[in-house]
Amino acid sequence: TKPVYAFEEADSKKRMLLGGKGAGLSEMTRLKLPVPPGFTITTEVCNKYYDNNRKLPKDVMPAVMKNIAKMEKKTGKKWNSTKNPLLVSVRSGAAISMPGMMDTILNLGLNEKTVEGFAEQTKNPRFSWDSYRRFIQLFGKVVFGVNDEKFDHVLDSAKAKQGVTDDSKLSVESLKNIVSEYKKICEDHTKRKFPDTPDEQLILSIEAVFKSWMGERAIVYREKNNITKDIANGTAVNVVAMVFGNMGDDSATGVVFTRNGNNGKKELEGEYLINAQGEDVVAGVRTGKNIEFLKKDMPKSYKELSNACAKLEKHFREPQDIEFTIEQGKFYLLQTRTAKMSASALVKTSVDMVKERLIDKNKALVRIPAQQLEALLHRTMDESKIKNYKQLAKGIPASPGAASGIVVFDVKKAIELGDSGNKVILVRKETKPEDVPAFFSSEGILTSLGGKSSHAAIVSRGMGKPCIVGCPELKINYDNNTCTANGITIKEKDTITIDGSAGTVFIGEVPTVEPQMTKDFEQILDWAQKTKTLGIRANADTPEGAKLARKFGGQGIGLCRTERMFNGSDRINLFVEMIMAENIEERSKILTKLGQLQKSDFIEILQAMEGYEVTIRLLDPPLHEFLPNPEELTERIQKLKASGDTDGVNKTEIILKRARELAEINPMMGHRGVRVGITYPEIYEMQIRAVFDALVELTKKKVKAHPQIMIPQISSIAELNHIKRIYDRIKKETETKHKMKLKINFGTMIEVVRAALTANELATTAEFFSFGTNDLTQGTFSFSREDVEGKFLPEYMEKELLERNPFQSIDVNGVGSLIKIGVSAGRQLRPNMEIGICGEHGGDPNSIKFCHSIGLSYVSASPHRIPIAIVAAAQAAI
Ligand code: PEP
Ligand code: MG
Repeated sequence: TKPVYAFEEADSKKRMLLGGKGAGLSEMTRLKLPVPPGFTITTEVCNKYYDNNRKLPKDVMPAVMKNIAKMEKKTGKKWNSTKNPLLVSVRSGAAISMPGMMDTILNLGLNEKTVEGFAEQTKNPRFSWDSYRRFIQLFGKVVFGVNDEKFDHVLDSAKAKQGVTDDSKLSVESLKNIVSEYKKICEDHTKRKFPDTPDEQLILSIEAVFKSWMGERAIVYREKNNITKDIANGTAVNVVAMVFGNMGDDSATGVVFTRNGNNGKKELEGEYLINAQGEDVVAGVRTGKNIEFLKKDMPKSYKELSNACAKLEKHFREPQDIEFTIEQGKFYLLQTRTAKMSASALVKTSVDMVKERLIDKNKALVRIPAQQLEALLHRTMDESKIKNYKQLAKGIPASPGAASGIVVFDVKKAIELGDSGNKVILVRKETKPEDVPAFFSSEGILTSLGGKSSHAAIVSRGMGKPCIVGCPELKINYDNNTCTANGITIKEKDTITIDGSAGTVFIGEVPTVEPQMTKDFEQILDWAQKTKTLGIRANADTPEGAKLARKFGGQGIGLCRTERMFNGSDRINLFVEMIMAENIEERSKILTKLGQLQKSDFIEILQAMEGYEVTIRLLDPPLHEFLPNPEELTERIQKLKASGDTDGVNKTEIILKRARELAEINPMMGHRGVRVGITYPEIYEMQIRAVFDALVELTKKKVKAHPQIMIPQISSIAELNHIKRIYDRIKKETETKHKMKLKINFGTMIEVVRAALTANELATTAEFFSFGTNDLTQGTFSFSREDVEGKFLPEYMEKELLERNPFQSIDVNGVGSLIKIGVSAGRQLRPNMEIGICGEHGGDPNSIKFCHSIGLSYVSASPHRIPIAIVAAAQAAI
């Protein structure tokens, strides 16, 4: 491959090589759409640049200059000309679009001499000098890392000096002064002369774009969005002839979605600014006019725009996100890419495009990133309660979903407070790419400026976070950390609720309700159900969880964690009493009571899941988890002593003694799971009996219940057989007593490494396997599942020692190998053996893909993730 391709000669299918923007520009050129001439420096050059110790390979600049010469021919302008200079923009563009994460430079080619030529060419000295000062500002920021505020300061004082408020009113004289002050800022910063030749400017800009690939915000963005090297490896650089949307009132610039990015409706959605440069719209510093008005403002251009939109959509078979510029009445396209849409827009456009015969059902399913569906499962404000809350303001709805949290204006503080467990709403005038880490730490984002295509809007939408933008009545004061709207002042840390679907901001925490399924979403789920082959079950331990799972399309419960049932307020004390019991008789008495409670829980859950398997796991955590911890108890004793409550002191001391007895240095590898079942057989007996009794009762009522019993933390066949004997005895007793045959499958979790390695032995007794991928990951890596994320894991990811968090997405090579061993051993003995996973991975699309590929029977995910799992399973099957 060559290092550089002109748009007309590139093979636009090679996205990895050309990046998304480069591929889009060359495809539009091929389609004979009005694109300014230009070329792409490939992502391969970016990688060589890094391999080469951050130096451009030797063949790059000669190829670049050859292409500049081609551009000269096409535009009739000349590089470095003092009469008719060719100006270019230098833009980044990786294979996967990373909006705003990397750098762009505009108006490159201007210097003290060419600016005069440009003034002659445009017959507009004011405009030319303004372009020049914009160039120095961007160049200084991007190439030299000068803080933007320094430039803003100069601009503001120039405006004040001249007594104007609008940039466009600055005189040529003022602009000339600004230019020399801007240069001085750069020179003070770099301690070198400002680079004057266009050649030098171009090299530095190309290098700066390559550098931005490894900039912190780009790295964070890739990490958070799982953009790995196999889907985007380096950025390309696009050099494009400048066209100007700020050449007067017959010029404009804008961005438009071919369909509404928020709700998916088939209508142009976007905004534009008359007499402005593209960055003004994207950065959200000025709120644009709705694209509808362009029809009136510039009818000819509007027609060209809507024709181009139709043509591009038909060509790409995907809604497009388009940037355009109108230069003195002439229409240009500067970019097209697949529109990033909210989850509901993705769902609606998928269904619509199938109806329009633009795509087929498989494509309709595949184009929805399953993960993003989470947003549709977000809560919305409870309509019936809204009237009790005061509305603070209304802005432009930019990303759907409702969120409450404390108001934080400062980006760093938002990260700090968010990461330490507070729910934060980030409130800013506008956001910049470097603010993105705070988005991850916030529940929602509210900006007073910007439109639907502003930075805040696009980033939030992609993340599925509620967001409101363009809320001009909201006056934010960073100096004293307040904002005011409609006469009400909100301070930092006051609670607000935002609704990103309606654009409304309320004071206080408005209650929210479960999401409603739309017809379109039901359609997608229906197609996905019919396409997938993997079963989707739920991790649920309450009747409500079971009902929700069923409503979302779950078919069965893959994991019912029975210990959760003991945490209810009406039974935790009973359970503690059971642990404290001094002898088996006393314990048995309490267990009988607990057995009654469990039985009624099982009845409700089995009923809610009628017709489907419900896998009930016997007690798993170590017993001390149910007692207060020793420090807490010691404190309590101190207080009781102080108040003279001797009886209380004595009682608490007994609990403390027991808690100390049960304490372990390494509880996750301690006395838990089947080990508790073996040492306190009466507990497992009670649970097994409760399952059998529940089945008896339901069978009598003709309810089709299918409970299965599953044993946690098994590491050997001896353990499993030990419990199986208890199960067999209770089964026989119950069958004899009720004179009926009872079918309850008996299986094991495989969550201990040894269990996976001896699965061939376990299969002799176990009728089914369920991989507990949480503990299995913990055991395989020897990483504590409770601690890693707050400790070394982030650094591991940063240093690329791990590509993904293995507790979120199955580690295919390690944990995956153990699962494969287990599956093949199990199925060798029992060819139709039911095998699934029930760790958190069950709701993760990548893990689901793996589970599908190795022929698992099902994955089990938390109820809210079931629709995601269904779609991911369908995608795996396509
Ligand atoms: C597991 O270990 O994967 C599992 C499902 O069990 P738990 O998370 O309850 O330990
Ligand atoms: Mg486990």
